[in-house]
Amino acid sequence: MGNLYTTSGRGKLYDSVTETVGDTPCVRLNHIAPDHVSLYVKVESFNPLSSVKDRLALNMIEAAEREGLLSPGQTVVEATSGNTGIGLAMVCAAKGYPLVITMADSFSIERRRLMRFLGAKVVLTPRAEKGIGMYRKAQALAEKNGWFFARQFESSANADIHESTTGREIVNDFKDIGLDYWVTGYGTGGTVSGVARVLRKDLPNCKIILSEPHNARLVGSGEPQQRNADDSPAGSHPAWEPHVIQGWTPDFIPKVLQESIDNKGFDQVLPVDGTIGMQWAARLAAEEGILTGVSGGSTLATAIEVAEQAPKGSVMLVMLPDTGERYLSTPLFETIPAEMDEEEQALADSV
Ligand code: PMP
Repeated sequence: MGNLYTTSGRGKLYDSVTETVGDTPCVRLNHIAPDHVSLYVKVESFNPLSSVKDRLALNMIEAAEREGLLSPGQTVVEATSGNTGIGLAMVCAAKGYPLVITMADSFSIERRRLMRFLGAKVVLTPRAEKGIGMYRKAQALAEKNGWFFARQFESSANADIHESTTGREIVNDFKDIGLDYWVTGYGTGGTVSGVARVLRKDLPNCKIILSEPHNARLVGSGEPQQRNADDSPAGSHPAWEPHVIQGWTPDFIPKVLQESIDNKGFDQVLPVDGTIGMQWAARLAAEEGILTGVSGGSTLATAIEVAEQAPKGSVMLVMLPDTGERYLSTPLFETIPAEMDEEEQALADSV
């Protein structure tokens, strides 16, 4: 049955790990999607440090290099829910910049340890101070020490890299079969704002669906974000509540996401319960063999809802921002035991 699976190398050698960022595969789901649609997932865990944020980490540093804002050996500082910090730690290690990360203590332990393993310093901020607390800590450290503050929530380098990589990849990969729906969540909004620029131009009939936590409907509420003169948030958004989808929806609407709100970069915004997202992440792993985190599962949950109403033959693409391995210590793996269960014990005893 079939031929032997073969590969032939990438046909090029790489001068740095940073050159391996992007060009992630879009993979069809064969078991868990409704039969009347073709549902693909864009698996961002194929990036070198296993998340979509490797893209913007690379561009924030290279844009600063191009613009002369970062000098050799200068320390970089950034506020992050983890994946940007891990991506930056990779880029800074490869390019020789010291890195200091500020992160709320609510994000997974794996994230902290990975950043430290990659040579970064991680300053934890109390979860009660929310996303704004870690943001202000990074800003204060940058001002006091003359460090380069990467500012993923406001930097034009964020959406730009998704325009020049993620969006282009999607258009190229779907040029033959077309694309009817693209589904994503948001943290900074870099993914949606950058990809929307490309899809609106090159695939104008593609519907862009934005997903957000059902208990933190910052966009869905229609309430505007108050901002300071430098575009930083002036305070927490009234619709925010703590939610379980790490990496999504901080307690403010970032400037980078505002572009999509102002320019209609999405057609619909839908709420999703993160615990349902975890169930879809589990099904994706066990029934398709594709490992993703809570945000990927939640994006998939939203896509399945959209798929149920979508016309027959619709082609859909779902963003999977990171890997499930980043959640081993979190509720995503809570029900997965380390010890043998009864069935496994019986197998062990059976021979
Ligand atoms: N999922 C996860 C796990 C993330 O870490 C992030 C980024 N914080 C996102 C989704 C959202 O990506 P973006 O910042 O481009 O909106």
